[in-house]
Amino acid sequence: MVQFVDLQKKFGKLEVLKGISEEIMEGECVAVLGPNGSGKSTLIKTLLGLVLPDKGDILIEGKSILKQHLYRNEIGYLPQIAQFPENMKVKELIRMITLMREKPSNENDLIDYFGVSSFLDNTLRSLSGGTKQKINAILALMFDCKIYVYDEPTVGLDPISRVLFKNYVQQQKKDKKTILLTTHLINEVEELADRILFILDGKIYYNRSVKELISEHNETSLENAMVKMLENHSKNKAHV
Ligand code: ADP
Ligand code: MG
Repeated sequence: MVQFVDLQKKFGKLEVLKGISEEIMEGECVAVLGPNGSGKSTLIKTLLGLVLPDKGDILIEGKSILKQHLYRNEIGYLPQIAQFPENMKVKELIRMITLMREKPSNENDLIDYFGVSSFLDNTLRSLSGGTKQKINAILALMFDCKIYVYDEPTVGLDPISRVLFKNYVQQQKKDKKTILLTTHLINEVEELADRILFILDGKIYYNRSVKELISEHNETSLENAMVKMLENHSKNKAHV
Protein backbone atom coordinates (compact mmCIF):
# COMPACT_ATOMS: atom_id res chain seq x y z
CA MET A 1 0.00 0.00 0.00
CA VAL A 2 1.15 3.52 -0.85
CA GLN A 3 0.08 6.40 1.42
CA PHE A 4 0.49 10.09 0.79
CA VAL A 5 0.07 12.05 4.03
CA ASP A 6 -0.66 15.78 3.80
CA LEU A 7 1.91 16.21 1.07
CA GLN A 8 2.95 19.78 0.32
CA LYS A 9 5.37 21.13 -2.25
CA LYS A 10 6.29 24.62 -3.43
CA PHE A 11 8.55 25.61 -6.28
CA GLY A 12 9.61 29.11 -5.25
CA LYS A 13 6.35 30.89 -4.60
CA LEU A 14 4.31 28.45 -6.63
CA GLU A 15 2.35 26.09 -4.37
CA VAL A 16 1.98 22.98 -6.46
CA LEU A 17 0.79 20.47 -3.84
CA LYS A 18 -1.24 21.95 -0.99
CA GLY A 19 -1.86 18.94 1.20
CA ILE A 20 -2.51 15.71 -0.65
CA SER A 21 -3.59 12.74 1.44
CA GLU A 22 -4.45 9.48 -0.21
CA GLU A 23 -4.00 5.70 -0.03
CA ILE A 24 -3.54 3.32 -2.93
CA MET A 25 -4.08 -0.36 -2.29
CA GLU A 26 -2.47 -3.46 -3.77
CA GLY A 27 -4.08 -4.50 -7.05
CA GLU A 28 -5.45 -1.02 -7.54
CA CYS A 29 -4.81 1.23 -10.52
CA VAL A 30 -5.35 4.90 -9.75
CA ALA A 31 -5.38 7.53 -12.48
CA VAL A 32 -4.02 10.92 -11.41
CA LEU A 33 -5.79 13.47 -13.60
CA GLY A 34 -5.92 17.23 -13.81
CA PRO A 35 -5.16 20.11 -16.15
CA ASN A 36 -1.64 20.82 -17.42
CA GLY A 37 0.55 22.11 -14.63
CA SER A 38 -1.76 20.90 -11.85
CA GLY A 39 0.99 18.87 -10.19
CA LYS A 40 0.44 15.34 -11.46
CA SER A 41 4.07 14.69 -12.35
CA THR A 42 5.21 16.42 -9.16
CA LEU A 43 3.04 14.09 -7.06
CA ILE A 44 4.35 11.03 -8.87
CA LYS A 45 7.93 12.22 -8.52
CA THR A 46 7.61 12.52 -4.74
CA LEU A 47 6.91 8.79 -4.64
CA LEU A 48 10.07 8.16 -6.64
CA GLY A 49 12.19 10.47 -4.50
CA LEU A 50 12.80 12.73 -7.51
CA VAL A 51 10.97 15.59 -5.80
CA LEU A 52 11.32 16.15 -2.04
CA PRO A 53 8.12 17.37 -0.35
CA ASP A 54 8.29 20.43 1.91
CA LYS A 55 5.84 18.88 4.35
CA GLY A 56 4.02 15.60 4.77
CA ASP A 57 5.10 12.02 4.31
CA ILE A 58 4.92 9.13 1.88
CA LEU A 59 4.64 5.61 3.22
CA ILE A 60 5.05 2.30 1.44
CA GLU A 61 3.66 -0.59 3.43
CA GLY A 62 3.61 1.65 6.48
CA LYS A 63 7.23 2.82 6.24
CA SER A 64 8.27 6.35 5.38
CA ILE A 65 10.32 6.57 2.20
CA LEU A 66 11.69 10.03 2.88
CA LYS A 67 15.50 9.99 2.75
CA GLN A 68 15.41 6.29 1.84
CA HIS A 69 16.45 4.82 -1.49
CA LEU A 70 16.31 1.01 -1.40
CA TYR A 71 12.53 1.04 -1.74
CA ARG A 72 12.95 2.39 -5.28
CA ASN A 73 14.00 -1.08 -6.32
CA GLU A 74 10.35 -2.04 -5.85
CA ILE A 75 9.08 0.58 -8.32
CA GLY A 76 8.88 0.32 -12.08
CA TYR A 77 8.80 3.87 -13.47
CA LEU A 78 7.95 5.00 -16.96
CA PRO A 79 8.74 8.73 -17.05
CA GLN A 80 6.91 11.25 -19.19
CA ILE A 81 10.16 12.20 -20.91
CA ALA A 82 12.88 9.59 -20.75
CA GLN A 83 16.41 10.75 -21.52
CA PHE A 84 19.01 8.18 -22.45
CA PRO A 85 22.39 8.52 -24.19
CA GLU A 86 21.48 8.90 -27.85
CA ASN A 87 24.52 7.12 -29.21
CA MET A 88 23.96 3.98 -27.14
CA LYS A 89 22.54 0.89 -28.82
CA VAL A 90 19.17 -0.39 -27.61
CA LYS A 91 20.67 -3.69 -26.40
CA GLU A 92 23.45 -1.82 -24.55
CA LEU A 93 20.90 0.37 -22.78
CA ILE A 94 18.79 -2.62 -21.72
CA ARG A 95 21.91 -4.41 -20.51
CA MET A 96 23.06 -1.35 -18.57
CA ILE A 97 19.72 -1.02 -16.81
CA THR A 98 19.56 -4.73 -15.91
CA LEU A 99 23.07 -4.51 -14.42
CA MET A 100 22.15 -1.42 -12.43
CA ARG A 101 19.05 -2.97 -10.88
CA GLU A 102 20.50 -6.40 -9.98
CA LYS A 103 17.02 -7.90 -10.10
CA PRO A 104 15.62 -10.68 -12.30
CA SER A 105 14.22 -9.22 -15.50
CA ASN A 106 12.17 -10.49 -18.42
CA GLU A 107 13.41 -8.14 -21.13
CA ASN A 108 13.50 -10.87 -23.78
CA ASP A 109 9.78 -11.65 -23.37
CA LEU A 110 9.00 -7.94 -23.60
CA ILE A 111 11.23 -7.42 -26.64
CA ASP A 112 9.14 -10.10 -28.39
CA TYR A 113 5.88 -8.79 -26.95
CA PHE A 114 6.43 -5.27 -28.32
CA GLY A 115 8.07 -6.56 -31.51
CA VAL A 116 11.31 -4.59 -31.24
CA SER A 117 13.91 -7.35 -31.68
CA SER A 118 15.03 -5.90 -35.05
CA PHE A 119 15.99 -2.62 -33.36
CA LEU A 120 18.38 -4.03 -30.74
CA ASP A 121 21.51 -3.06 -32.69
CA ASN A 122 20.22 0.42 -33.53
CA THR A 123 21.27 3.49 -31.61
CA LEU A 124 18.58 5.32 -29.67
CA ARG A 125 19.15 8.36 -31.88
CA SER A 126 18.03 6.42 -34.94
CA LEU A 127 14.70 5.26 -33.46
CA SER A 128 11.31 6.80 -34.19
CA GLY A 129 9.47 8.35 -31.25
CA GLY A 130 7.10 5.39 -31.00
CA THR A 131 9.87 2.78 -31.01
CA LYS A 132 11.76 4.75 -28.38
CA GLN A 133 8.65 4.77 -26.21
CA LYS A 134 8.33 0.98 -26.60
CA ILE A 135 11.91 0.64 -25.36
CA ASN A 136 11.09 2.96 -22.43
CA ALA A 137 8.09 0.81 -21.64
CA ILE A 138 10.24 -2.33 -21.68
CA LEU A 139 12.72 -0.72 -19.27
CA ALA A 140 9.87 0.12 -16.88
CA LEU A 141 8.10 -3.23 -17.12
CA MET A 142 10.97 -5.71 -17.22
CA PHE A 143 11.53 -5.96 -13.47
CA ASP A 144 9.05 -7.63 -11.17
CA CYS A 145 8.12 -4.80 -8.79
CA LYS A 146 5.28 -4.20 -6.34
CA ILE A 147 4.55 -0.71 -7.59
CA TYR A 148 4.44 0.69 -11.12
CA VAL A 149 4.27 4.37 -11.99
CA TYR A 150 3.31 5.40 -15.51
CA ASP A 151 3.47 9.06 -16.55
CA GLU A 152 1.67 9.43 -19.90
CA PRO A 153 2.80 5.92 -20.84
CA THR A 154 1.35 5.53 -24.32
CA VAL A 155 2.12 8.95 -25.80
CA GLY A 156 3.66 8.30 -29.21
CA LEU A 157 2.75 4.61 -29.30
CA ASP A 158 0.87 3.23 -32.31
CA PRO A 159 -2.64 1.86 -31.67
CA ILE A 160 -1.53 -1.77 -31.52
CA SER A 161 1.25 -1.06 -29.03
CA ARG A 162 -1.24 0.91 -26.94
CA VAL A 163 -3.43 -2.16 -26.73
CA LEU A 164 -0.42 -4.32 -25.87
CA PHE A 165 0.56 -1.92 -23.11
CA LYS A 166 -2.97 -1.81 -21.68
CA ASN A 167 -3.26 -5.60 -21.74
CA TYR A 168 0.02 -5.84 -19.89
CA VAL A 169 -1.25 -3.46 -17.20
CA GLN A 170 -4.49 -5.47 -16.91
CA GLN A 171 -2.37 -8.52 -16.11
CA GLN A 172 -0.36 -6.52 -13.56
CA LYS A 173 -3.62 -5.63 -11.82
CA LYS A 174 -4.52 -9.32 -11.65
CA ASP A 175 -1.07 -9.91 -10.16
CA LYS A 176 -1.96 -7.43 -7.36
CA LYS A 177 0.47 -4.71 -8.38
CA THR A 178 -0.12 -1.15 -7.21
CA ILE A 179 -0.34 1.19 -10.18
CA LEU A 180 -0.27 4.96 -10.46
CA LEU A 181 -1.03 6.38 -13.87
CA THR A 182 -1.30 9.80 -15.43
CA THR A 183 -2.77 10.14 -18.87
CA HIS A 184 -4.75 12.51 -21.08
CA LEU A 185 -6.40 9.60 -22.83
CA ILE A 186 -9.89 9.02 -21.54
CA ASN A 187 -10.15 5.49 -22.87
CA GLU A 188 -6.98 4.55 -21.00
CA VAL A 189 -8.59 5.77 -17.78
CA GLU A 190 -11.82 3.91 -18.56
CA GLU A 191 -10.05 0.68 -19.35
CA LEU A 192 -7.39 0.67 -16.64
CA ALA A 193 -8.25 2.87 -13.68
CA ASP A 194 -10.26 1.68 -10.70
CA ARG A 195 -10.27 5.16 -9.31
CA ILE A 196 -9.72 8.74 -10.39
CA LEU A 197 -7.78 11.27 -8.35
CA PHE A 198 -8.55 14.58 -9.95
CA ILE A 199 -6.12 17.30 -8.85
CA LEU A 200 -7.11 20.96 -9.04
CA ASP A 201 -5.44 23.94 -7.39
CA GLY A 202 -2.99 21.67 -5.57
CA LYS A 203 -5.65 19.57 -3.86
CA ILE A 204 -7.59 16.42 -4.59
CA TYR A 205 -10.79 17.76 -6.09
CA TYR A 206 -12.41 14.44 -6.89
CA ASN A 207 -11.68 10.93 -5.68
CA ARG A 208 -14.11 8.25 -6.84
CA SER A 209 -14.37 5.32 -9.19
CA VAL A 210 -14.88 5.90 -12.91
CA LYS A 211 -18.41 4.50 -12.64
CA GLU A 212 -19.33 6.84 -9.78
CA LEU A 213 -18.03 9.87 -11.62
CA ILE A 214 -20.19 9.04 -14.63
CA SER A 215 -23.36 8.23 -12.67
CA GLU A 216 -23.03 11.17 -10.27
CA HIS A 217 -23.05 13.55 -13.21
CA ASN A 218 -25.91 11.78 -15.00
CA GLU A 219 -23.74 11.10 -18.01
CA THR A 220 -23.06 8.09 -20.15
CA SER A 221 -19.41 8.77 -20.96
CA LEU A 222 -16.46 9.58 -18.75
CA GLU A 223 -15.49 12.40 -21.08
CA ASN A 224 -18.79 14.25 -20.61
CA ALA A 225 -18.83 13.56 -16.89
CA MET A 226 -15.38 15.15 -16.55
CA VAL A 227 -16.50 18.22 -18.49
CA LYS A 228 -19.51 18.56 -16.17
CA MET A 229 -17.34 18.13 -13.09
CA LEU A 230 -15.04 20.95 -14.27
CA GLU A 231 -18.01 23.17 -15.16
CA ASN A 232 -19.38 22.68 -11.63
CA HIS A 233 -15.97 23.56 -10.26
CA SER A 234 -15.83 26.86 -12.19
CA LYS A 235 -19.41 27.71 -11.16
CA ASN A 236 -18.59 27.05 -7.51
CA LYS A 237 -15.45 29.16 -7.80
CA ALA A 238 -17.42 32.01 -9.37
CA HIS A 239 -19.79 31.97 -6.39
CA VAL A 240 -17.11 32.28 -3.75
P1 ADP B 1 1.50 18.29 -14.57
O1 ADP B 1 2.29 17.03 -14.60
O2 ADP B 1 0.19 18.17 -13.86
O3 ADP B 1 1.30 18.90 -15.92
P2 ADP B 1 3.77 19.31 -13.05
O4 ADP B 1 3.70 18.53 -11.79
O5 ADP B 1 4.79 18.90 -14.05
O6 ADP B 1 2.31 19.37 -13.72
O7 ADP B 1 4.01 20.84 -12.70
C1 ADP B 1 3.20 21.55 -11.81
C2 ADP B 1 3.70 23.00 -11.74
O8 ADP B 1 4.95 23.03 -11.09
C3 ADP B 1 3.90 23.65 -13.10
O9 ADP B 1 3.52 25.00 -13.01
C4 ADP B 1 5.39 23.52 -13.33
O10 ADP B 1 5.86 24.54 -14.16
C5 ADP B 1 5.93 23.61 -11.93
N1 ADP B 1 7.17 22.83 -11.75
C6 ADP B 1 7.29 21.50 -11.89
N2 ADP B 1 8.54 21.09 -11.63
C7 ADP B 1 9.24 22.22 -11.31
C8 ADP B 1 10.60 22.46 -10.95
N3 ADP B 1 11.50 21.47 -10.81
N4 ADP B 1 10.96 23.74 -10.70
C9 ADP B 1 10.07 24.75 -10.80
N5 ADP B 1 8.78 24.59 -11.14
C10 ADP B 1 8.36 23.34 -11.40
MG1 MG C 1 3.10 15.86 -16.17
